[in-house]
Amino acid sequence: MSPVHAEPRDERPFVSPAEQHRSVLVLALGGTIAMTPTASGPGVAPTLTGSDLVAAVPGLRGFEVSTEDFRKLPGASLTIGDIVDLVHRLEQADGEGVDGIVVTQGTDTLEETAFLTDLYYRGSTPVVFTGAMRSAAAAGADGPANILAAVQAATSAGVREAGVFVVMGDEIHAARHVRKMHTTSPAAFTSPATGPVGHLVEGTVRLRHPLKRTAPVALPLTPESTPVEVEVVTASLGSSGILLEGLESRVSGLVVAAFGVGHVPQTWVPRLASLAEAMPVVLASRIGTGPVLTSTYAFPGSESDLLAHGLIAAGPLDPYKARLVMAAHLAAGTPREAIAKAFLDYA
Ligand code: ASP
Repeated sequence: MSPVHAEPRDERPFVSPAEQHRSVLVLALGGTIAMTPTASGPGVAPTLTGSDLVAAVPGLRGFEVSTEDFRKLPGASLTIGDIVDLVHRLEQADGEGVDGIVVTQGTDTLEETAFLTDLYYRGSTPVVFTGAMRSAAAAGADGPANILAAVQAATSAGVREAGVFVVMGDEIHAARHVRKMHTTSPAAFTSPATGPVGHLVEGTVRLRHPLKRTAPVALPLTPESTPVEVEVVTASLGSSGILLEGLESRVSGLVVAAFGVGHVPQTWVPRLASLAEAMPVVLASRIGTGPVLTSTYAFPGSESDLLAHGLIAAGPLDPYKARLVMAAHLAAGTPREAIAKAFLDYA
């Protein structure tokens, strides 16, 4: 029998004609996705550049990828000013005619940075945030697959004009709904109230829900022009509320992460009522999914009692997202009544 000579197999993934030569800008901010072991001992720290990240991704053939090293920080050290800076760059890139933009960063703050970017960004070019739960050197590192899926999503016409998304594990999440729900799992990101808005299937975007965009908030001219302090204080069993003391002179806005549908110990009410005279105080739930109510319970410290004392209902926004809505509006100089109205947009 004569030997059979098989043609060498082309291992490169199929790239549809429509996908070819789509241009994408990758902005690298650091995070586990860019982390490698440190020389001095156990543990990883951000070292990789945007081009290092992209070079490790099989399947980007056909995409025109450019990279920029925007920050090289753990997610926990990013600031609101960094995101203001980032949004200026995104709006500039939107005007440069790139097909899609991917932001890589630490997962610790990804749900907050993506949401804040969504509050500010007015461009039509899709912006997709991604990261990794396992560092670049770890077995089964999820960064390369997440970057590929993020590039495929960001350059898809189906998500144009729709704002900001998070892509992890081939799931597409709206910035408005996504949360990190596990400390270590590669499937840590979910949208508990709605599920993902879509998926990547064989490199193609499949949307499950219509995409809704909220009215943008005015972007500060510079990162320094956001001198607002907004803090979150969480209700817990038997807490005296000592952390609320003296806040009038230390913060410009407060979010209360209340029990359940919006309840706090009754001993907190006088302090919260006087804080609400001095600044906007938003009532959110520490649960993280589901809305705070407005008129179901009527005891001291209940949601209706707190709203009657001037607090603003966060609707379904969790305390961290509510804090960003408040911070963005305070930085923009939005009056208190208009801040309260802005929260109704999320109901
Ligand atoms: N500590 C990391 C960070 O946020 C976690 C991660 O990226 O997954 O930078």
